[in-house]
Amino acid sequence: MTAQRIHNFNAGPAALPLPVLEKIQASFLNFNDSGMSITEISHRSSHFDAVINDAVERARQLLKLDDTWHVLFIQGGASLQFAMIPMNFLGQGQTADYINTGTWSTKAIKEAQIQKKTIQVTASSEDKNFSYIPEAIPCTPGARYVHITTNNTIKGTRFAQFPETGGIPLVADMSSDIFSRPLPMEKFGLIYAGAQKNLGPSGTCMVSIKKDFLETAEDDLPSMLKYSTYAAKNSMYNTPPCFGIYTIGLVLKWIQEQFGTLEKMAAFNEQKAAILYDVIDGSGFYRGTARKDSRSLMNVTFRLPTEELEKKFVADALKKGMGGLKGHRSVGGCRASIYNAATMESVMALKEFMTSFEKENG
Ligand SMILES: *Cc1c(COP(=O)(O)O)cnc(C)c1O
Repeated sequence: MTAQRIHNFNAGPAALPLPVLEKIQASFLNFNDSGMSITEISHRSSHFDAVINDAVERARQLLKLDDTWHVLFIQGGASLQFAMIPMNFLGQGQTADYINTGTWSTKAIKEAQIQKKTIQVTASSEDKNFSYIPEAIPCTPGARYVHITTNNTIKGTRFAQFPETGGIPLVADMSSDIFSRPLPMEKFGLIYAGAQKNLGPSGTCMVSIKKDFLETAEDDLPSMLKYSTYAAKNSMYNTPPCFGIYTIGLVLKWIQEQFGTLEKMAAFNEQKAAILYDVIDGSGFYRGTARKDSRSLMNVTFRLPTEELEKKFVADALKKGMGGLKGHRSVGGCRASIYNAATMESVMALKEFMTSFEKENG
């Protein structure tokens, strides 16, 4: 018997589309008539070649990436990218700009500083507990890249538009909003996303790099820490995270079949987020923590009048089959993560719960 599934508002690892989980379940013991599980197949087999090439191709189609781009899968999550980016792209005498919009940006900055790289934090919203996205973003002439976090998972903010950099490539942590909206890829040199928010299981990071940007990278690095190693071997220099890549391919196929394009995916995400923000804005009980123009469509963060009520809210929601609503331990409060896979049914259930909780406790 299948246990009852909850409405899953976890921030990450997060809900995956049910049809994807069912597909994995159905083919788990016998992948494509191979007589083996996807977790038992050689990464050097034609079976797996088809899996990785399919995932890469679907990523290219959705993001409209031509062959001036690499699509890579690297282990170590988004956090390893924090270290690999400055390692690969900041040589002697070179510098980069970082925009600090939250916990993850702060970690990315720290990893560059640990390596004694020269970087500037050119804009920050730390003065207001990262509750907004800075408007004025100066660029350092000659900077190799400008690093941003497109969606701030913990603080519930996002870049609605991307900064003007005068041609300096943006390097972007898109862990919590990749494939949630169309992107002006001409502005980027490298984008990366840990899979466990919008793509698949944790442990895999999808990285896309512009080929001419990669050509400027440092070469004198350990093989596993160089993007060129992954680019030269279709991400299979060593054993790749096979199951993660397989799942990512299925998730991208699901986006294509259900929505077709990222414009349509974005419209669905806007619709879902608006439902929850409307509840918050229409109430004197809930208080959104992000400035309105900076609000995330993926992570809806809010407070209740007291911490006790917040605890009760999370506990009562769970009793009603809604999980993952506790805010990140560093900020408290509540957070509903509604990534691509969050269904309208889940969002409507939460809306109704929020409305009745306010009536009973407000
Ligand atoms: C979750 C998250 C990370 C960390 O990802 P790991 O895969 O755990 O390293 C980094 N950046 C953002 C924006 C995230 O949401």
